[in-house]
Amino acid sequence: MKFKTPIKLAWHRFTSCSGCQLTLVNCEASMTALSAVVELHDFALVSSALGNSEVIDVALVEGSLTSPSEVKRLLALRRKAGLLVAVGACALTGGVNVMVKGERRRAMESIYGKPGTEWDTFPPQPVHHFVKVDWQIPGCPPEQHELLEMIAAILHGGWPGRQVMPVCMECRINENRCLLEEDHAPCLGPITRAGCHALCPGIGVPCEGCRGVVAEANQDELCRLFFAAGLSEQDIRHRLERFGEVL
Ligand code: SF4
Ligand code: SF4
Repeated sequence: MKFKTPIKLAWHRFTSCSGCQLTLVNCEASMTALSAVVELHDFALVSSALGNSEVIDVALVEGSLTSPSEVKRLLALRRKAGLLVAVGACALTGGVNVMVKGERRRAMESIYGKPGTEWDTFPPQPVHHFVKVDWQIPGCPPEQHELLEMIAAILHGGWPGRQVMPVCMECRINENRCLLEEDHAPCLGPITRAGCHALCPGIGVPCEGCRGVVAEANQDELCRLFFAAGLSEQDIRHRLERFGEVL
């Protein structure tokens, strides 16, 4: 699908922290070039004056869905958008919002008091459970270069390449010390989709898997290594489910 330049781009936020939007807003070095080819609509973080446009070429969607009113807004957005792109872990899998799981009622009550348990909400769901998603950008938050590459590709009527290697490969490229092998740390790098340049292991922090599962991930072997390192089954499950995805 090819659009006339400037493309009409909207950003809609659902249940999320706005970190994904900030990633695009923080692309200062590319703003001049972007402003020549992109026209912003429905982007409340940038300006409340951008309004609710009738027609959108590309809708970027951040956050998970947690209420009927959010679903209604998402469906209306899908109807008017030429392309819909889910951005960030919350939109792709439910993200860290899913962590409360069975403790949801207790969490709602402890944060909002009794009225919290009566609100019309449901457990966080990813965007693709409700509408067709044309493209996904992973990460918590996503990488700036992936947002910019996606916009550039759309301007040329296509999509960017898909990342198919695991975070471990980026560690090797960067010559990082392996936290899994050398420290027996619970690093999810072997089964996580690359693209972040092994950001966390690069500073000595085990990968949490925020970019989702890479194709052909060998989860069984990683679990075996985690068991051997002394992690309990529950610890491993919590770690694997942290970003809302059971492998
Ligand atoms: S530190 Fe983690 S991501 Fe890096 S090579 Fe080791 S297991 Fe892979
Ligand atoms: S290293 Fe893992 S947790 Fe850190 S940004 Fe990359 S994918 Fe996300």
